[in-house]
Amino acid sequence: MRIPLIAGNWKMNKTVDESIALVTGIVKPLEDIKGVEILICPPFTSLHTLADLLKNSSIKLGAQNMHYEDKGAFTGEVSPLMIKDLCQYVIIGHSERRQYFNDDEYANKKIKAAINFGIVPILCIGEKLEENMSGKTIEVLERQLEQAFNDIHNIGDIVIAYEPIWAIGSGKTATGEQANNTIGVIRQKISSLYENKTASNVRILYGGSVTADNITEFVQQPEIDGALVGGASLKPEIFRHIASQTSRIASQSRNGC
Ligand code: PEP
Repeated sequence: MRIPLIAGNWKMNKTVDESIALVTGIVKPLEDIKGVEILICPPFTSLHTLADLLKNSSIKLGAQNMHYEDKGAFTGEVSPLMIKDLCQYVIIGHSERRQYFNDDEYANKKIKAAINFGIVPILCIGEKLEENMSGKTIEVLERQLEQAFNDIHNIGDIVIAYEPIWAIGSGKTATGEQANNTIGVIRQKISSLYENKTASNVRILYGGSVTADNITEFVQQPEIDGALVGGASLKPEIFRHIASQTSRIASQSRNGC
């Protein structure tokens, strides 16, 4: 049974004080939600403070990116060595990073480094609108997976987030059924690259304009193991609702209803 994951990507939002206020307001209600892993990915500047705040909490912390080297002359970068004691997860290859910071090229090295340092990578993949419209979605996703996993023999407990780029921050989403079918194909690709067991264990999230109003449509699909949530993760009440709806659906499917 794959435990659903609800991950909040705060992107470049929230000062340290604002991060403390947001987490303090939400931590208790989130901890009360059972059967779902909940993850917050704040900016680097808030990681240390939030790691202290969440020391005894079930809420996990993740970074939004990292460099692949552990140290050196890479001005402005943050290394896996620097974050490994602060967070359990790291987002890799988010489409915004692929677009502005060349992460198509670096995702593979970053995943290798994260695995080496015991940080769980959340690999983001997704197609552009024009690729979707011209029927190239699967081709693009398979290429992204092959590049990201090149020369990686064991992906461990890596998480994949399928995020159609046209759905990110746009208010448009794939339908639950479309996302489920595409994620099914991603799982088949993992099975062809590794083994069936790896494919059936890997958690694959949907991301792209997830809200409290549409989360149920996604997490009730058998292939979808949770969501990577951008904008809505900055709204405590909505994020809580997304996590609690996911918990409700997961408990129904555990009980076979
Ligand atoms: C994201 O940043 O990964 C994301 C899915 O953003 P949003 O939920 O705002 O579309």
